[in-house]
Amino acid sequence: MSDLDLIVQRLALRGHRVTGSRLRVLEALVQAPAHFTVDDLVRLAPGVGRATLFRTVKLLQDLNVVCRVLMEDGSLHYRLSTRGHHHHLVCRNCGRVEDFSKCDVSSLVEELARNTAYQIEGHWLEVYGTCASCRILVQAGVPA
Ligand SMILES: [Zn+2]
Ligand SMILES: [Zn+2]
Ligand SMILES: [Zn+2]
Repeated sequence: MSDLDLIVQRLALRGHRVTGSRLRVLEALVQAPAHFTVDDLVRLAPGVGRATLFRTVKLLQDLNVVCRVLMEDGSLHYRLSTRGHHHHLVCRNCGRVEDFSKCDVSSLVEELARNTAYQIEGHWLEVYGTCASCRILVQAGVPA
């Protein structure tokens, strides 16, 4: 099943209709690079309003089809992902993003809940570094 079919199916399962403009957003999404901004989608889905783009991306986030990546420069990117709870490893040199699922913060969360009386409802973790190919370039003295 293609990503597009999978997303359409997931929308339908949750009772969301795939309207013409929604489909255009979905098509833009599967064509987009590995991670993208809403501005990229504006370019890839001409004629679809910004508000519709934001709403659709938010809906897809709620349906766990799209995740958010916080780049080191503070910009928020989006990424097609159906894998559920996960985090990102971001190369600060080339901007490559990889997912990882191992997330062992349960003891921290429990301790926080105990010490602060908060009901903890979520967390967000991004890890920044230099990827293997960028490290090779750096070692070879090739300027970035
Ligand atoms: Zn992700
Ligand atoms: Zn890199
Ligand atoms: Zn986590």
